[in-house]
Parts: sequence; C-alpha cells; structure tokens
Amino acid sequence: METDIIQKLKIADLRGRGGAGFPTYLKWESVLKTNAPKKYIICNAAEGELDLKKDKYILEHYSKDVISGIKIALKTIDNSSAYIYLNKEYYSLFKDKLKDENIVLIEEDNGYIGGEESALINFIEGKIAEPRKKPPFVSEKGLFNMPTLVNNVETFYYVSKIEKGEYDSERFYMILGEKINGGIYELKEGMTIREILKSTKNYLDCPFYVQAGGGACGEIMTEDEFDKPVLGEGFIRVISYEEDPYNLMERWAEFLVNGNCDKCTPCREGTYRILEMIKKRKLDIDKLEEIFLALEKTSFCALGKGTPIPFRSLIKKVILKNHD
Ligand code: SF4
Repeated sequence: METDIIQKLKIADLRGRGGAGFPTYLKWESVLKTNAPKKYIICNAAEGELDLKKDKYILEHYSKDVISGIKIALKTIDNSSAYIYLNKEYYSLFKDKLKDENIVLIEEDNGYIGGEESALINFIEGKIAEPRKKPPFVSEKGLFNMPTLVNNVETFYYVSKIEKGEYDSERFYMILGEKINGGIYELKEGMTIREILKSTKNYLDCPFYVQAGGGACGEIMTEDEFDKPVLGEGFIRVISYEEDPYNLMERWAEFLVNGNCDKCTPCREGTYRILEMIKKRKLDIDKLEEIFLALEKTSFCALGKGTPIPFRSLIKKVILKNHD
C-alpha cells in the first residue's frame, strides 16, 4: 500500500502544520488503506486562530505549490475529490488564484471552531459547524462517511516541496508584538524561541515574555523557557512587561466566547465567566481554577479543554509572580 509519496512524507517526517503535529504520512496512509467507493481531500484554509496569518501569507505567495500539493493527494488517492475550505476573507482574496478545474472552493464563516476538521466536514455536509465525536476519525469516516484527508495549507505546501526534493525541515513562524516589526518567516523546524527571535531581530532589549504556539491557545513562556522549541501553529507573540496583561486576557476571552460553537455548557458558560471576571480586572483565583478544571475535564473538544492554558500560564508566570 505504501506509495512513493507516502514513503517520502515518512522519511521527511512531515507533521501536520494545523497545530496538532500529527505525522502526515499516517493520515495519508489511513485514507489510502480504508476501503470505500469514494474518498475526499480537504485543504483547510480556515485559519481561525487569533492573530494568525501564516496560511494567508502562503496563499498569497505560494498558491501554486499549495495546489500542486493537493493534486499530489488527488493522484495518490483513487476516486478522490478535493476541496479547499476558506474563511470569508481568504475566499474573497484568493478565489481567483486558487481556481482549478479539479478543486472545489468552499467559503465559510464559522470562526475559530469552524477550522476543526470534523466541524468543517459537518459544515460542508450542510450541518452545524460543530465537532464530531472521535473515533471514528475523519480519515476513516469523514465527509459523507467516506475516508477524508484533511491537511492545512502549510502542510500541502510542504507536500509539494517534498515531492520536488526541495524540503529541508523548514516551517513557517509568525512573530507579532507591539514593540517589534515581526512578520512571517520560513525557518528550520524545532528552533527555540530565543533562536527564532534573535535570528529575525525580534529579540527585545527590555524585559519581555512570549506566548508561543497559537494566538489564543498558546502558552505563556518567560525568559527561563526561551530555549524550548516553538510547537503548535508556529506563532510567537512578544509581550513587554510594560503592557497590561489584562488587555491580552480580555482579547483571548472575547475571542473564545465568540469562537466556540455553543455545543457544550462548560465551554459556552466557562469562557463567558472568564471574560466577565477579566473585564472587572479582579481575579478570583479559586473560582477561576474551578472553571478551568471543569473546562479541562468536561469539554467536548480540544478548544474547551485547551482554554485554560494561556490564562493559567499568564496568571502564574506573570501576574502572580510580579505580586510576590
Ligand atoms: S468545547 Fe467548546 S468548541 Fe468544543 S464542542 Fe464544546 S462548545 Fe464547541
């Protein structure tokens, strides 16, 4: 069953760039192995994470490579059809660039959760864009119950690079902050926070901390942790200690209140209660911890379960530490 491209993806150790970091070849292999009369390929260009614009940059500059990555999947997987699932902004910006007779473009407006792979499949089927229970995984039972390969824009871009023998373990990073120029950079995978900031001249000369991974879901890291690699979506927010951390927490909370799908109570109510407390600028740590535990233990999907990560790390490593 192992095709040439699967072997290449395996050797390259390409991991999905949508945030979860799952080995790409395993997804492709699972879709290939599952017997079904029809299979689907979806390029996820929802990019709903707060402040993240990495896929936008790739679509802007390398749309041909993304299309070529999708076509490699179409060639590899028999009886398959392909879609690109784009948020409203990207649809209007890139619909002409991405025009291809073998690929259907789908426009969505479902916010953060709309980019979750099973939620986007529900949306394409005409249902509410909310996550499905897993297993079954979408690679076995996805769109219209058929095996479905969902990879994000950056992953398809690198599939085409791997096929051409031009991949050397790179990935895209996005760096953002009030006191830096920042931008999108293509650098080696596995680089540490310190290496990335120094090599791109975004290392502040005043005390600062970062949010690493994602714009809302990423963990706060202080200087003593800058030798860790940047995982997840490759996002780094550079934050000076002069900035008000409550403003950032309020942005996260507002984003999560609007970006969840309302399917389950802990996430719907929990994010709202967090926002209420932050707006008052008065933290009740015990109450917050109760909400965090409920979110972690009883949320239906990763969005709710991961919600405590940025808040808890910012409160512990920055707010409480500075009041010791
Ligand atoms: S955890 Fe949040 S985003 Fe996930 S299903 Fe529940 S309400 Fe929706």
